[in-house]
Amino acid sequence: MKYHRILLKLSGEALMGQQQYGIDAERLMQYASEIKTVAATGVQIAVVIGGGNIYRGVEAEAFGLDRVQGDYMGMLATVINSMALQSALEKLEVSTRLLSGLTIQRVCEPYIRRRAVRHLEKGRVVIFGAGIGSPYFTTDSAASLRAIEIEADVVLKGTRVDGIYTADPEKDSTATRYDEITFDEVLSKNLNVMDMTAFTLCKENNLPIIVFDMNTEGNLQRLLDGESMGTLVSDGKPGGRDGRKSLLDPKQTLLQPLVGNQPEQA
Ligand code: UDP
Repeated sequence: MKYHRILLKLSGEALMGQQQYGIDAERLMQYASEIKTVAATGVQIAVVIGGGNIYRGVEAEAFGLDRVQGDYMGMLATVINSMALQSALEKLEVSTRLLSGLTIQRVCEPYIRRRAVRHLEKGRVVIFGAGIGSPYFTTDSAASLRAIEIEADVVLKGTRVDGIYTADPEKDSTATRYDEITFDEVLSKNLNVMDMTAFTLCKENNLPIIVFDMNTEGNLQRLLDGESMGTLVSDGKPGGRDGRKSLLDPKQTLLQPLVGNQPEQA
């Protein structure tokens, strides 16, 4: 197992399952059990979950309401989802902490970086709620920023699509999936991986992103076991942020560093 600390980004929309709104209990429990499986292997896991299944700030704007107010409502929606995930994990006897970008002290701890790292070191699953706590951002930005702050090895973006495609696979049947792609190629090809703020944070800090299908049961563990899936976005150069060899090295297969045949860092 190569990755020591991961940041898992889940969209709020995915939590709806087949519903039109809110939280699908089955999907929630599936996510919780996938996280439990991975946590049991000793990987430190932080989770950022979106709020799109409940509210997005842009919806307020569409109604002619204040965007900033709407964004705070969206942030509160992410806290609701985070609380649901926390409960689901606790039901499965996984130790968790919910740290919020907005102060809501009856239900969660405030986000304090050192505290987050300490919880992770103790083997607790850390959930970051309320995004970064500021309007005009998204939970993708929160995922990138928190991952950099806690020195996660990778952002795993769990979606309902199994990676990054040349075009939208739901609209274009000729679209093909990239196994690996560089940050620069994503920009030059104008591919939609994350919003620009989130993506730029990852690029500038050389934090790899893997986009994968989180809705297929067992995928998270399989990905961490080194199975080839999804799309890896990296700088494509040897010696990334932690000095590991590039995953784009032609002598290596996709995601090989995940399976631990590279020399471990000290
Ligand atoms: N949001 C925000 N600042 C943040 C994170 C989230 O203002 O740091 C608001 C924003 O309105 C966003 C909503 O919360 O639309 C829900 O998050 P997001 O759209 O990222 O959820 P997802 O699409 O992942 O379900």
